Amino acid sequence: MISEIKYKKQICEIGKRIYDKGFVAANDGNISIRLCEDEFLITPTGVSKGFMTPEMIVKVNAAGEVLEGDYRPTSEMKMHMLVYQERPDIQAIVHVHPPYATAFAIAGIPLDQAIMPESVVYLGTIPVAAYGTPSTEEVPNAVKKYVYDHQGVLLENHGALTWGRDLEHAYFLMESMEFTSKINWIAKQLNGDRELSKKHVQTLVDMKTKMGIKGNSPIGVDTEPGVHAMKRIPPMEKNLSKQDLQTIVENVTKNILDELKKHL
Ligand SMILES: [Zn+2]
Repeated sequence: MISEIKYKKQICEIGKRIYDKGFVAANDGNISIRLCEDEFLITPTGVSKGFMTPEMIVKVNAAGEVLEGDYRPTSEMKMHMLVYQERPDIQAIVHVHPPYATAFAIAGIPLDQAIMPESVVYLGTIPVAAYGTPSTEEVPNAVKKYVYDHQGVLLENHGALTWGRDLEHAYFLMESMEFTSKINWIAKQLNGDRELSKKHVQTLVDMKTKMGIKGNSPIGVDTEPGVHAMKRIPPMEKNLSKQDLQTIVENVTKNILDELKKHL
């Protein structure tokens, strides 16, 4: 099918772009496109997204079964399928680990400050979806809560996910998310992540409505500016027990003492 080849090539091209941009390292990240109701193209696991060729792209159905291709599909396929299932209007998905957006995901800080007109109109708010073990149902379950009213999410302690009307759109949303995160971070160093006023945000939201942009929550409309600053989700549960910690401390102390003895 001609269009299938075209889409496979486009996935390779966007794969190269995310790799060149430093949005992923080594074999990280995954990309998918919806071909029809029950057929999808998705990137393989264990391959650098910067060096893919069209025959590496796998065709799967909504259940995640391989229909065509010699490679195994990405282990993070479940979150792609959740988005396609819940949002029939979505045709493509990008998942990467861009450094600035991922840092916000690790800090548990959502991108919900109205700091730039472009991100208010184009990106909307980006929430943090609670951490889930990669490849398990925990990830799609956490994303589901936000899939209807947003264009993407930060995946807590993991990375970022965007969905769009085509692959170019999903990619640009990711680029915009990373750019917003980077500027937000730099502004915070200057102690200057000042938000737009409620009036200015409302004007932008009205403009956006007129332009027919939907599917993303406007920023700061129902909250006073400034209140978002450094709003964090609660810290993750500590997995180490007191006993574990004590054992680690004892081992480290012993190693240091052994090392010191050698030099005495
Ligand atoms: Zn990932």
